[in-house]
Amino acid sequence: MSTPVSIRALNWKQLLALLGIIVLLPVAMVLAIPALVGFLALIFILAPIGLIGVAFHNHRKRKVAKAFPCLRCDQLLGAKSVRLADKEFRKRLKELRRRYSFAIFRIVRTCHAICATCGMRHSYLPKQRIFVPETRNA
Ligand SMILES: [Zn+2]
Repeated sequence: MSTPVSIRALNWKQLLALLGIIVLLPVAMVLAIPALVGFLALIFILAPIGLIGVAFHNHRKRKVAKAFPCLRCDQLLGAKSVRLADKEFRKRLKELRRRYSFAIFRIVRTCHAICATCGMRHSYLPKQRIFVPETRNA
């Protein structure tokens, strides 16, 4: 047999807690829905858009490299030169992660193509869609 609980039997702390549950729980649920939708949008919409953007940028860079002559030896750079630069960049990142495993980096990539014939390093300018000699600040 259970004893009936009336509002008068509650003290002010219990009443406040009950009111908090009645008011705050629906508010939290209502606020949680946009947060959840935002999170899902970030994961399922924005992330793929970002990945497609990166893939598009890389595709365009490779396409420009296929038709762009090396600034030193005049041979076409080709996709191989972009692969060489990518490989070197990955190697550099791996080395940095190995050496400073708990550091956060801000890395500015300056070399986007390495001529497969003469080894000249080129930077890609996406707006002009050209390669220029690499300028290193570090
Ligand atoms: Zn060259």
